[in-house]
Amino acid sequence: MNLADALALLERSAAEAAAAVVGAASLDDLASVERDWLGKRSPATAVNEAIKTFGPDERPRAGQAVGAYRAAVTDAVAVRRSELEAAAAADRGPGLDLTLGGHGAVRGHLHLVTQIRRELEDIFVGLGYRIAEGPEVEDDWHNFEALNIPPAHPARSMQDTLYIELGRPEQVMLRTHTSPVQIRTMETQEPPIYVVAPGRTYRNETLDARHSPAFHQMECLAVDRGLTMADLFGTIEAFAKRLFDDESVRTRFRSDFFPYTEPSAELAVSCVFCHQRGCRVCSHTGWIELGGCGMVDPNVFVQVGIDPEEWQGFAFGFGLERIAMIRYGIDEIRTFFDNDQRFLEQY
Ligand SMILES: [Zn+2]
Repeated sequence: MNLADALALLERSAAEAAAAVVGAASLDDLASVERDWLGKRSPATAVNEAIKTFGPDERPRAGQAVGAYRAAVTDAVAVRRSELEAAAAADRGPGLDLTLGGHGAVRGHLHLVTQIRRELEDIFVGLGYRIAEGPEVEDDWHNFEALNIPPAHPARSMQDTLYIELGRPEQVMLRTHTSPVQIRTMETQEPPIYVVAPGRTYRNETLDARHSPAFHQMECLAVDRGLTMADLFGTIEAFAKRLFDDESVRTRFRSDFFPYTEPSAELAVSCVFCHQRGCRVCSHTGWIELGGCGMVDPNVFVQVGIDPEEWQGFAFGFGLERIAMIRYGIDEIRTFFDNDQRFLEQY
């Protein structure tokens, strides 16, 4: 190869290399083109090898030609590479660009109902109560019969639930209230008993603003000698004042009926939002209904083997969602179960 051959080869090769670079359809293609035209077997390498045989006055010219060829092909490869990379990133879509920044770590927190439950547990533990728990799948005895609700009692139709077939003669169901935990506690512990039972409960309800097939209750049970309704009212008043953190809260009891307490009362507290001037939360009545209460029916004591002549008891219960709805002005019970983060993140 003489100098003229070398210059001609580089010129021809530069044109062919430029066409090959532009024609590369992928980054892999381009890498292969780059190897062909700039690598160990490329025309540039061949000319470099031949330069040794050229005369001293010819070598600089040949060297410059090789340098110009390399620079031109290298630039063309770089331009084509950035084009192909941009196209590949566009194909992957914006979500998969790993060079973009992240969304940041989001710190979660307890569900509002869990927060309320723990807060109420703290209040009762402060009053000397222990936390009691029981199964969510209950038998007929604990959910109904031991609570003075025999088969065909009208209270059963108000507490229809979801029944579970386990091939057993008695009915097995999702519990309709936390009251069966009272029975289980009294079956296994000697009085005096001071417990609260928080937990999930179920009814055959259609989900709407006010009703939900699953909800949470908390129930309080005290069994001791000489307990009277004055103890019940005093306990509820102490509880209500701590719940709303307001010493001016007053309580109201109106006669009601529950099969497992006698006498029974509906429990309401004075509205802490309007101080009884009337507002949306209390439906302009000045009172907020919280739940039910009463003295444990002697028949219930007999069912669990406690002598009603020696021991007296009181119980009261309420819905945890209801407490949260009152305190935070939430209108719909179903928002607790929608798992909508925009709602949950507010509390
Ligand atoms: Zn009010």
